[in-house]
Amino acid sequence: MTTTAVDWHERAATLKPDGRAFIGGKRVAAASGETFDCISPIDGRLLGPVARCRAEDVHFAVSDGRAAFGDGRWGQRPPSERKRILQAFAEKMLAAREELALLETLDMGKPIGNALSADVPQAARCIAWYAEAIDKIYGEIAPTGPHALALIQREPMGVIGAIVPWNYPMLMAAWKLGPALAAGNSVVLKPSEKSPLTALRLAELAMEAGLPPGVFNVVPGYGHEAGEALALHDEVDAIGFTGSTRVGRKMLEYAGRSNLKRVYNELGGKSAFLVFPDFDDLDRCAETVAASIFYNQGESCNAPSRLLVHEAIVDDFAKRVATEASKYRPADPLDAATVMGALVDHAQLRTVMSYIEAGRAEGAQVLAGGAQTRAETGGCYVEPTVFGGVRNDMRIAREEIFGPVLGIICFKDEAEAVRLANDSPYGLQASVWSSHIDRAHRVARALRAGTVHVNQYDEDDITVPFGGYKQSGNGRDKSLHALDKYTELKTTWLRINS
Ligand code: NAD
Repeated sequence: MTTTAVDWHERAATLKPDGRAFIGGKRVAAASGETFDCISPIDGRLLGPVARCRAEDVHFAVSDGRAAFGDGRWGQRPPSERKRILQAFAEKMLAAREELALLETLDMGKPIGNALSADVPQAARCIAWYAEAIDKIYGEIAPTGPHALALIQREPMGVIGAIVPWNYPMLMAAWKLGPALAAGNSVVLKPSEKSPLTALRLAELAMEAGLPPGVFNVVPGYGHEAGEALALHDEVDAIGFTGSTRVGRKMLEYAGRSNLKRVYNELGGKSAFLVFPDFDDLDRCAETVAASIFYNQGESCNAPSRLLVHEAIVDDFAKRVATEASKYRPADPLDAATVMGALVDHAQLRTVMSYIEAGRAEGAQVLAGGAQTRAETGGCYVEPTVFGGVRNDMRIAREEIFGPVLGIICFKDEAEAVRLANDSPYGLQASVWSSHIDRAHRVARALRAGTVHVNQYDEDDITVPFGGYKQSGNGRDKSLHALDKYTELKTTWLRINS
């Protein structure tokens, strides 16, 4: 499908997103009638009102989800039927590709080309992948003695609360919805208040595909209102949370204060990218680090924001990276050729700019970017920024910035590189670049991260788990492992008389 024929500005001008909640199989206003404004970061335009759900609305949604789970309208269907409906859901997402991509771009600022080529197809593939998997998963029979039979089965948990961020709104929702729905649960999804539109549309598409009412509900609203109410609700069996480490901590508190629901946290990162002087293609390496940190405006949990380079090549490599950075100049997100769009809102713009100031104040040198740009549009744009001379104890090296800011840290030897890489509260991903096979393996083993890339950073697939060590979270999204989060293991003992 080509994107060049579409006039995205024209389409955007006529778009009227429906911001009402989705509860019990239909669109509804918040019980209070309250709304909040959905503002686009691309130019400050008003996209429309969105239902401001609070505890009462969350309670309706959870009750509907519980009723749907209780009568088995979804969870008790044969897996092959759940498969068929979820496959139809994925097909509907692909058929609505342009509408979903446009909503995503307008809502959170990413380039339309990325939304079309990555966000929509990857989210649809995620739903389809779990649909296809679910009628191929067997239980177990334990190797017990001859007078007993022990069956070990996975059962759906009940009602899953999914709370997701704004950086990949549709994809993060799909990572929860795919395994949770395929396993037979009901889901109440709380999208970020900064990007609620695609989640609401997904629920409509799922119903059109045949998902029964009440199985998938969406409650837009603020974190401290709708999000807190969902995480505290006693009828929610598990929370699948993706977001900041700060809010992830609260999820654990909410579970402790309520029904000890399972909490699966997918949190922040400060991933290290280690470059050794023996690597034989530094141009590809520089291209990769720039593409990985600046993709999605730097708003990726796994963005390699700490670049660790050996002292013998650091000056040369820093120049290459600064040159690469200039290819990511922010431009109109509704232009199909744009590679970097807008940050999600003015608050995020201020946060990113304050980190850039902090980097300067702590003595790091700006090698590229460092300024706000396109302010005349009314949107939220920051230049791709590269800092040299960063120390691992600076704030820009320790804290997640979640914007297009890369810090270069110099190391002397392999031991120091590993020590610096692991000296972080986070452990989401890491990358090692070396043409020396022993070194590549040694360092990959020593890095404390959920995913380690060797001589690349691009590979990703629904077939592999995604998640972090340390304060990057627990549990894993994607792959068959994600099904563990939304199912309970049940053992059934039977006696066999001789
Ligand atoms: P956030 O923690 O501010 O918000 C995430 C979600 O939690 C939103 O829906 C928000 O409304 C809700 N929330 C906020 N406060 C809440 C509260 N008190 N109670 C209940 N819910 C609450 O995160 P964000 O700014 O939306 O997203 C950026 C963060 O997400 C970054 O830290 C990023 O690294 C992380 N992230 C992690 C992964 C991963 O897979 N590990 C993927 C994407 C993003």
